Amino acid sequence: MQSELGNGSSQDGAHDRVENSSFETMARVEHDLRDVIDALALLGIKRCSQCRQFFRGADPGALFDCGKLVCYKCIPDWWTSCSIRLGIADRERTEGKLASWLRKYHHAEVVKETLGKVPDTSNIEFQMIARCLECSGSGKLMEGERCRFCNGAGTVRIVVPK
Ligand SMILES: [Zn+2]
Ligand SMILES: [Zn+2]
Repeated sequence: MQSELGNGSSQDGAHDRVENSSFETMARVEHDLRDVIDALALLGIKRCSQCRQFFRGADPGALFDCGKLVCYKCIPDWWTSCSIRLGIADRERTEGKLASWLRKYHHAEVVKETLGKVPDTSNIEFQMIARCLECSGSGKLMEGERCRFCNGAGTVRIVVPK
């Protein structure tokens, strides 16, 4: 009985020591990891704020920078939730920046809205609606005629093909 109790308490003691040292190890690993991430930033390696994956900063098409970094794969989900939350001015600014980033690095095309026509989305990887830059979203050109760039809709679709 006595020896059993003794064994029990010494086992508990050993258990505590293991927990303490694993806590110290964790703290050290975390600290090292932060140092490594800082070092990677120095090397121009950046991290997506959504999926936490690392990307080479030298590839401008990998991460979209709008104050926070978002990788191309995370763009559709991120933009869907982000565009609802932003105010109009912020949304238009980010939307314009995203549209030109997609056109520059991901072969996105500007597609006119065709009224009454359901767009074919089978060959599309990602699409977003953006304000028409030619008429600033009014749908009309200076002379009051219908904007031919957006068919008067004031918006265009930015389409990234598959
Ligand atoms: Zn990502
Ligand atoms: Zn227009």
